[in-house]
Amino acid sequence: QEITSGYCFYKGQIMPLAEANVNISTHALNYGTGCFEGIRAYWNAQEGQLYVLKALEHYQRLLLSCRILKINLPYNAEELVERTRLMLAKNDYREDVYIRPFAFKASQVIKVTLTGLRDELAIFSVPMGNYVDTAGLAATVSSWQRISDNMIPSRAKVTGAYINPALANDAATADGYDEAIMLSSDGQVSEASSANLFIVRNGVLVTTPITSDILEGITRRAIMQLADDLGLSYEVRQIDRTELYICDEMFLAGTGAQIAAITSVDRRPVGTGKMGSITKQLQEAYDSAVRGKDERYMDWVTPVYK
Ligand code: PMP
Repeated sequence: QEITSGYCFYKGQIMPLAEANVNISTHALNYGTGCFEGIRAYWNAQEGQLYVLKALEHYQRLLLSCRILKINLPYNAEELVERTRLMLAKNDYREDVYIRPFAFKASQVIKVTLTGLRDELAIFSVPMGNYVDTAGLAATVSSWQRISDNMIPSRAKVTGAYINPALANDAATADGYDEAIMLSSDGQVSEASSANLFIVRNGVLVTTPITSDILEGITRRAIMQLADDLGLSYEVRQIDRTELYICDEMFLAGTGAQIAAITSVDRRPVGTGKMGSITKQLQEAYDSAVRGKDERYMDWVTPVYK
């Protein structure tokens, strides 16, 4: 579904998305020299409120990506949250929404560099329900390797870097799978195509460290907090490929994917082949937190409507 209507934030103001265009010679379009975020806002029908999830953390991460790409924005993270809130209110949404902030090299020049170029920021949004089936996905270990920090830094959410997961996910889909799990250049598990990965072994949650060429996920950190509050133990350590074949549960953790159970890897069932109890427990806790329905997590959400 093409995104054609609504209001976005571009060139310092809220404007119709239909008018927010770039020239074909724009640096970022040619060289992938931009960075972005993916943020969700959840509709709470009982309250008639739209809640933006972890908005400040996403903009703090955007600014870190900008530092890596030498992009200077005239806004701090708090100001970006407020621009986003105003843009969402202008769209008058009454449903779940996905928000895409995008900072990029806007100069119209032929030069492979990061220096001396004009920077631009855009924020747009689109109504979005579940991005993937959260009840049970079939994953495969991709033959495409995860990009490493010294090639294209994974911890920066860089536009051009998404060729890597796009190749992996496209190959997985063509082979009849729902999702690709990528290994880093040392053969260790890194992450999925656009989400971090958790497994459960012997009742303990395990996820890969931030030095495993992953995007430093905000959902990943949220899950650690939920795990603490639910009394679940977790470990952050490297994961071997074969642990994917013998673990009891596995799930994706990401803004788009949310918490999505993986029920098979390379056609081998994960645990019983059905969503596990720890995954289910986390899904339920996450769903009420993100909609502003759990008092303990109100600091996760920013209300759009005053
Ligand atoms: N890894 C990659 C490559 C991603 O694109 C995403 C989605 N932003 C994630 C992990 C999950 O990050 P987050 O929980 O912050 O959305």
